[in-house]
Amino acid sequence: MIYLDNNATTPVNPTVIATVEKYLHQFGNPSSSYVIGAQSHKLITEARSKFGELLGISPEELIFTSCGSEADNMAIKSVAHAFFGKKKTIITTSIEHHAILHSVESLKKFGYNILYLQPDETGVIRVSDLLAILDNPLYKDDICLVSIMGANNETGMVQPVEEIGEILKKRNILFHVDGVQSVGCMGLPKNVDMVSMSGHKINAPKGIGALYVRKEVLDSGILIPFIDGGKQEFGLRGGTENLPYIMGYAKALEEFVGNRDAYKKHTSELMSTVKSFIAENIPGIKFNTDDAKPHLPNTLNVSIRGIDGAGLMEYMSMFDMFIATGSACNTGSNKPSHVLTAQGLSREDAFSSIRISSGMQNTMEEIEEFNKRLAMGVEHLRKIAGYKI
Ligand code: PLP
Repeated sequence: MIYLDNNATTPVNPTVIATVEKYLHQFGNPSSSYVIGAQSHKLITEARSKFGELLGISPEELIFTSCGSEADNMAIKSVAHAFFGKKKTIITTSIEHHAILHSVESLKKFGYNILYLQPDETGVIRVSDLLAILDNPLYKDDICLVSIMGANNETGMVQPVEEIGEILKKRNILFHVDGVQSVGCMGLPKNVDMVSMSGHKINAPKGIGALYVRKEVLDSGILIPFIDGGKQEFGLRGGTENLPYIMGYAKALEEFVGNRDAYKKHTSELMSTVKSFIAENIPGIKFNTDDAKPHLPNTLNVSIRGIDGAGLMEYMSMFDMFIATGSACNTGSNKPSHVLTAQGLSREDAFSSIRISSGMQNTMEEIEEFNKRLAMGVEHLRKIAGYKI
């Protein structure tokens, strides 16, 4: 198998599997005061401290969730709850993941006004567009939240969140970052109030995530539990904690951060090999990841004219090679990617796009084999479609 869809999910590290397995045996309920419960509680506290160290935050600023989507929902809907009847404008972007887009959409029925920043043709949000809204007398005093992703899952383009955070801090406007794709590779951004993260993008299992919330925001009482219950996660998320996954997530983060430089070097070498191969061997293409600008080193999105991205994905999968078209959550829909159309691609170019995303486990040999098969697939599908360059 050649797996090049690491932005959808990553394989779980063997060391992480061993950690999860080990702590499945630590079955005491962390809320029980006797010894095996107290041990479980202590382990969660230690895992939280490890996150604190690795992310440069204080451990109390981290709430474990079931996934990145839950963290996104928690941030957005908590702020909406806190500002209900006071401020009703939320600013986000048209290129967010559906965990954000559908969350803000759901708030419209409560009277919230959602403004979407559009990316430029390289897939990057313009700070000047945000400033124009912040200075607009219509919205100026009505904004309760800005939510912008750290890096886009489809194109890998990094967004200027630190610069935006600095602006918002001065104006006292809450800022949430969907860091699901960016935190592993880039760490926690500065000048932010809340950041969502997810385990399965950094070689931990699916079903574990976290939300960073800055201490002052926590102390202001803005965050509310969506799962009412016991006092777990500082009373902000009821439900007995998933100790084995929390331990596995901490292990995965430790390894990812420890290997960060090697990861960046390795994945960018792999992707530049793919990119050069495509540029030299496949005519009629358009790269949708602009590597002249900050981007995730492991991600390459490209439109290949005359083919259907989903068809190419299927062709490659027959040879046990896995890539994506748009985001995994989009597959099965017959709409072109909302991210690529927002950055100005035609429907045709968006439909003919594929996303190749590598990970630490991929090798240069795999990439060479993949490249050859990709060229054969494109030739085959173009022939069937009667497409001529
Ligand atoms: N945000 C982004 C940018 C993502 O890429 C994803 C997953 O693909 C999510 C949120 C959702 O994370 P999870 O799958 O942990 O719910």
